[in-house]
Amino acid sequence: MLGWLTGAAVLGGAGAYSYGAMAPQSQLFGASFARGADPQQLALTYDDGPNDSSTLPLLEVLAKYGVKATFFLIGRHVRSRPAIARKIAEAGHAIGNHTYSHPNLIFASLKKLRRELEICERVLTETIGEHARLFRPPFGAKRPAILRTVHSMGFKPIKWSVTCYDWKPTTADRVEQHAVRQIRGGDLILMHDGDHSQMGADRSHTVEATERLIRRYHDQGYKFVTIPEMMQASEA
Ligand SMILES: [Zn+2]
Repeated sequence: MLGWLTGAAVLGGAGAYSYGAMAPQSQLFGASFARGADPQQLALTYDDGPNDSSTLPLLEVLAKYGVKATFFLIGRHVRSRPAIARKIAEAGHAIGNHTYSHPNLIFASLKKLRRELEICERVLTETIGEHARLFRPPFGAKRPAILRTVHSMGFKPIKWSVTCYDWKPTTADRVEQHAVRQIRGGDLILMHDGDHSQMGADRSHTVEATERLIRRYHDQGYKFVTIPEMMQASEA
């Protein structure tokens, strides 16, 4: 059960945190999954959806190539766009929790964190049913106390190894270039089909870059997997 933690600790550098006077076992809670052990695998991940303008076109691209990805949904957006959330689930993609309202957890109490996770989880379960128990913190906040709380609630905290800077107006070219520069194999690629602050943000650059990345890395023999699949391969 701790296999994925150990792998993430070795590869992700859990030692980067300073634990100070915390109990020794706290190191177990310090690791987020950020890279898979199989260098032939890549995981596309999308945050901040569902989104009116870009989620359905993105699903079309993924379906065209038979690629399964992982979506970290915001509970508030799921509540306002349940039909889009259901389409993501029906297409067979993995879905994780990205809080209910996307607060910056650096400034939030642990009580608020628990509430954000619980409400998002309830909305997800009511809307799509069973789903992965994965959590990606908004803005990547990773205080040890946050990770400890997340673990104690039975979630696996998920980071990324490749950042595409697609959460602002940009071009497919630039998104693709950021990805290509960082991809080494076994990567979790962070992209955004939505916007935490509004519904309907334009993420067409992300949709187009996704198609280019799939073509490029399929040609090179890489396999696109969901995060649960990548974690399973890393445990073996
Ligand atoms: Zn986010």
